[in-house]
Amino acid sequence: MSSGLGAGLPLGTGVPGVFLSPPGFERVIGLLRDGIAALAADEPFHRLVIPPVISRATIERAGYVAAFPNLLGTVHGYGGTPNGWARLKPLVEQGGEWHAQQQIGDLVLLPAACYPVYAALEGKALDEPAKVTVEASCFRQEATSEPGRMRSFRMLELVTVATDEHCLKWRAARLEQVEGWFTELGLAVSVEVADDPFFGPGRKVYQAAQRMQELKWELRVPVADGTVQAVASANYHKEHFGDTFGITAGGEPANTSCVAFGLERLAMALITRHGEDSTQWPADVLAALGGGRRA
Ligand code: AMP
Ligand code: ZN
Repeated sequence: MSSGLGAGLPLGTGVPGVFLSPPGFERVIGLLRDGIAALAADEPFHRLVIPPVISRATIERAGYVAAFPNLLGTVHGYGGTPNGWARLKPLVEQGGEWHAQQQIGDLVLLPAACYPVYAALEGKALDEPAKVTVEASCFRQEATSEPGRMRSFRMLELVTVATDEHCLKWRAARLEQVEGWFTELGLAVSVEVADDPFFGPGRKVYQAAQRMQELKWELRVPVADGTVQAVASANYHKEHFGDTFGITAGGEPANTSCVAFGLERLAMALITRHGEDSTQWPADVLAALGGGRRA
């Protein structure tokens, strides 16, 4: 590309796992939003726009810190005086420890898009299923940076909070629907039980228990030549968030399920399969992306 700023694929920034999105890539992200909106059109989802930070207390209560201390990005700030800062300031230029006095704050970087939804429903007694769709920039301090593994990425989720019966049926139906959609998109998809300990400590015994209960399904597709990654997950958290946030459904602790799509990984998968120019993709693929009418 003559501008040097890329065309269809994410542009590196000099640090692992953080990319800029050029227009061709962003167009595919837009098509994915349209495709997911079409999938979700059969239910009345309440759409919430989610910021990239969340209350640290919420993330602690939700069990994320216990399960993924290595992935969480914390937000620190300087709470000292201007005089104190004047003493530290030269260290910025000298490459010294200017940050030695940074203190942890009340926010952390959002690690998954659905957490704010459960916190927003705190204390509520639901008499019908809550259905919410959210998109957020998420952060995970990943240790590796193979294709598709980013530290900053966008997650679009469909979330429901309701009875156990509803959440289980909903998750099963959505999982089947999304698997079918990926096939329509020409992606070679495999569906596998995962043992991501999204609640409970990351010990083998919990992971085995979680696998047996099939709480997390991952949909995996090739995202680059020779690299297969999970591009979406369909999760059932039982009453974990209902208990934590005091949400009830039908008089019982509410259950929750979510389907999470990784937009960058999905866009990479589609580009790997159909090429960088999404205006030239097969008609049936574009039809499955809300008709493919994007600028
Ligand atoms: P999870 O909450 O781990 O099931 O993540 C939901 C989806 O977000 C995954 O299926 C991926 O598509 C995407 N995702 C998770 N971690 C990353 C990452 N490090 N880089 C890019 N996408 C990710
Ligand atoms: Zn979720």
